[in-house]
Amino acid sequence: MSGANDLTALTIAEAREGLAAKSFTAHELTSAYLAAIEKARVLNAYVIETPEKALAMAAESDRRLASGNARPLEGIPLGIKDLFCTEGVRSTACSNILGGFIPPYESTVTSQLWRDGAVMLGKLNCDEFAMGSSNETSAFGPVVNPWRRTGSNVGTNAGTLEGTALVPGGSSGGSAAAVAARLCAGATATDTGGSIRQPAAFTGTVGIKPTYGRCSRWGIVAFASSLDQAGPIARDVRDAAIMLRSMAGNDERDSTAVDTPVPDYEKALSGEVRGLTIGIPKEYRLDGMAPEIEALWQQGIAWLKEAGAKIVDISLPHTKYALPAYYIVAPAEASSNLARYDGVRYGLREQGGDITGMYEKTRARGFGKEVRRRIMIGTYVLSAGYYDAYYVKAQKIRTLIKRDFDLAFAAGVDAVLTPATPSSAFGIGEKGSADPVEMYLNDIFTVTVNMAGLPGIAIPAGLDAKGLPLALQLIGRPFAEETLFRCGDVIERAAGRFTPPAWWTP
Ligand code: GLN
Repeated sequence: MSGANDLTALTIAEAREGLAAKSFTAHELTSAYLAAIEKARVLNAYVIETPEKALAMAAESDRRLASGNARPLEGIPLGIKDLFCTEGVRSTACSNILGGFIPPYESTVTSQLWRDGAVMLGKLNCDEFAMGSSNETSAFGPVVNPWRRTGSNVGTNAGTLEGTALVPGGSSGGSAAAVAARLCAGATATDTGGSIRQPAAFTGTVGIKPTYGRCSRWGIVAFASSLDQAGPIARDVRDAAIMLRSMAGNDERDSTAVDTPVPDYEKALSGEVRGLTIGIPKEYRLDGMAPEIEALWQQGIAWLKEAGAKIVDISLPHTKYALPAYYIVAPAEASSNLARYDGVRYGLREQGGDITGMYEKTRARGFGKEVRRRIMIGTYVLSAGYYDAYYVKAQKIRTLIKRDFDLAFAAGVDAVLTPATPSSAFGIGEKGSADPVEMYLNDIFTVTVNMAGLPGIAIPAGLDAKGLPLALQLIGRPFAEETLFRCGDVIERAAGRFTPPAWWTP
């Protein structure tokens, strides 16, 4: 292998082979990524770089590789969404209220990645407390999507941004941008209403939100506890399968983590889908849906059919209530989870005379606008007078949404195919500043999956007329992530992979 760029071009599976064959060392692989990160600071994907830690972990990997004791992710350099607590490394959820917070503990998911030999490159930017669809609510500023519209002048003078740079999606915008720009081999992410799948769709990467309970939530900053799930964002389906195997598993510190064996997901990548039935839900065909999205969907159906799947039309009648119900349930849980940030135990403290003054000043200064909006909506819908009218109704809708899926699965459907997002990536500052609902509409195809606790994967499937990636979503039965990998692999083989040119490199 020659030159740093060649090493960052490798997938996790390819890097694993190269390390085993001693074509290069973990030190060389990590150094290549550290150099790439340094040249890509204009993208703002990392909020903290940890090169010393990375090189020390790579040295340990090289020792284990030399002694023949390599682990499943030995020497693979990863980026970690800043929502995961990392021991001794600042973890802020990209909020000022956690400014300077250095956890004395490691999240279960990340500790499993390190147990398996992975190397930490740093912490990745995200929307504040994972609330957003564009990474624009981060206290560290927006992330720039490595993809540009055809003919765009963004980054014409390398190292600067002219014209409208695009958002990478959110909330896991740093994770998706870093994977797409080859600033890590893979990244951790979280998904409460679409935050793994929508940024994966906007950046031509693969993102899977596993079944609720598949990965432990312990040590991940909580947004909406009944919806939050961790998962990987990766370059391709195989890499996502490799990462999820290490991230998943039961955990006695999370009572909602499920005690069921973690399969070797790579074995699911057979290249065919014979015997599987794929449901196409008519309610996802929105009025005024972009013809390109409809065409992409039809293409996905054709690919799965060619590979042996049976395609059936299905109905998920309560889909239209999912988004409004999500924007009641998620803020309700958020308002409760975020009550702990009061200036006493974590991060920021503003002096305010008495204790109430201190709480008020700390929370007013520490939380950004979108987070304050969610806390206000959440406390409103949980208040005595409105609890039944909003919160209880939303919970009932949630049950009905889950029942829609249950009925489809009971009728023999193995997976549901839909578009992942209603559009390709939009410009920074282009959406949601006047009306937050404009931004919330981005989640229209993804929130149902969290409401029902099901696994969902986003697979890049093509480019639109602007030259930007578009993705399809597959939704599976509980704990049937293998089916999603199997179908996703078929789509990936047909569609190919999508990598943006490195215009940001000075
Ligand atoms: N965009 C959605 C929201 O803002 C989902 C976020 C997420 O999945 N963390 O709530």
